[in-house]
Amino acid sequence: MNEVVNKTNQINGKVYLVGAGPGDVDLLTVKALRLIQSCDVILYDNLVSAAIRSIFPNGCKKFFVGKSRADHSIPQHNLNQLMVTLAKRGLSVCRLKGGDPLIFGRGSEEMLVLHKAGITTELIPGITAASGCTSYAGIPLTHRGVSQGCTFITGHAEKNLDINWSSLATAGHTLVFYMGLSQLPNIRKKLLENGLAKETPAALIENGTHQCQRVVTSTLDNLAQDAVALQLTSPTLIVIGKVVKLREQLAWFEDLSRNRKSLTTDLNKKSRLSA
Ligand code: SAH
Repeated sequence: MNEVVNKTNQINGKVYLVGAGPGDVDLLTVKALRLIQSCDVILYDNLVSAAIRSIFPNGCKKFFVGKSRADHSIPQHNLNQLMVTLAKRGLSVCRLKGGDPLIFGRGSEEMLVLHKAGITTELIPGITAASGCTSYAGIPLTHRGVSQGCTFITGHAEKNLDINWSSLATAGHTLVFYMGLSQLPNIRKKLLENGLAKETPAALIENGTHQCQRVVTSTLDNLAQDAVALQLTSPTLIVIGKVVKLREQLAWFEDLSRNRKSLTTDLNKKSRLSA
């Protein structure tokens, strides 16, 4: 599919940088689903959920190329080289990433390398964690009269975090930290030092949009200690701002899961009765 003839008249394949969304398989785009079903090779990250991995076709080759903070399964330059090699063999490659490839996802870095190597590349956006996880937690990123904006920030950097804390603390809008769990004490300290009120509502969303999603609501002051007490693990998204309070009225996903569970229990009871 989508073969490209390069300057030496070789048939090249193509690399698709595809966003898989935050976890729920139903949040894949139609285009992402089509590519998963039709590519020759899938290279996937650790944030690609088990539910999504379960729909990978049997006949296609799949390689886990994920990175977590502790474990670098394949260095980035080897991964870049792998994509180039596979495409030069004429294969169509689905490079599947959690969320959106261009939001803290290195998608643009990979695209630059692929372009340099003369590989045709397509970008398929995905639902980013900030959007997917907050929706499933019933927390709007913006709400008229409450928050007129939102900033996505990384809590982790390979070298130093270069963040303008005073502009974040005084912006008066929603702050969303990706990769911030281990940095929570520092995030709390910097925002408090720069004037954000300690009572500011805040939330932690662990495994957002997955069946096992956990949402913890707290305040900026207590967030770090709550994360430790409740033993939250990665992936967890941090949301800070007044919009978090709206969850009290807007939470819906937990009710749906509870209803689904009681429906299953009812169905089980029914089938036991009729057996
Ligand atoms: N490209 C991805 C982000 C990769 S950075 C995207 O657009 O969503 C990885 C961080 O994203 C995690 O440390 C966590 O903070 C956040 N994240 C991704 N998926 C998540 C999920 N399902 N639940 C909670 N946080 C998630």
